[in-house]
Amino acid sequence: MALLEAESNITNKYKTLSFYQGDLLVTFSRALKTRVKGKILIKVNRDLRVVASAPKYVSNKDVIEAVRERLDWIQEQLQKFSKLAPLQTPKQFCNGELHPYLGIDYPINIIETPPNKILLTENTIEIHSKNTDANKIESLMDAWYKTEAKKLFDSRVNELLPKTFWATKKPSISIRTMKSRWGSCSTSGSIRLNSQLIKTPLACIDYVILHELCHIAEMNHSPRFYHLLDQVMPEWRGVKKELDKLGHGIL
Ligand SMILES: [Zn+2]
Repeated sequence: MALLEAESNITNKYKTLSFYQGDLLVTFSRALKTRVKGKILIKVNRDLRVVASAPKYVSNKDVIEAVRERLDWIQEQLQKFSKLAPLQTPKQFCNGELHPYLGIDYPINIIETPPNKILLTENTIEIHSKNTDANKIESLMDAWYKTEAKKLFDSRVNELLPKTFWATKKPSISIRTMKSRWGSCSTSGSIRLNSQLIKTPLACIDYVILHELCHIAEMNHSPRFYHLLDQVMPEWRGVKKELDKLGHGIL
């Protein structure tokens, strides 16, 4: 027998709801601010969180019923995502913790001394900071990744541009920290690259740059687009696979 069990943990964004399905306690989040209209939307995230969104007037009981009805599908998704990548534990930004740079994991070495700076040595990412709070180290590292990304991506675009003969001039390149995509190309031909790519191997960075440069000639993922991509990077499929795998841990 299924029983409406409990609700708890009200944050300003989500409310945790749970219910029993047989012996199984099912817990999920209900999004509190949502623009969903007239229906109940259920999403399983890559980090294995299950989030239901529904208009305000829908009762928690009805949301729970909707989740219960889709439990088979939800469990299928959870299984699929848990196979994809091991669960990522949040970074602690403490000495010795591994952080990626160009596809290699380096232990970080925090040295409590001003001025703030980060140096990549042969074996470590060396972080100088008077304040060694995790938040401070995180923001220093974010800024460092972004600076490194700006330098490297620009030189990679210069290097790769001669391959893409249809791009007659260098497109404008902007580097952003993005949550869900590696790059994009606007209809006006400007390219946006995710600063987080700096954490992946060089081949992955080149792949994303070439992918976006191909969009200058062909906006859609049409056969012509893939024909161009095959020409400029014949091995792109393998590289994309690697990037997709890394994406689960980085994005
Ligand atoms: Zn694309």
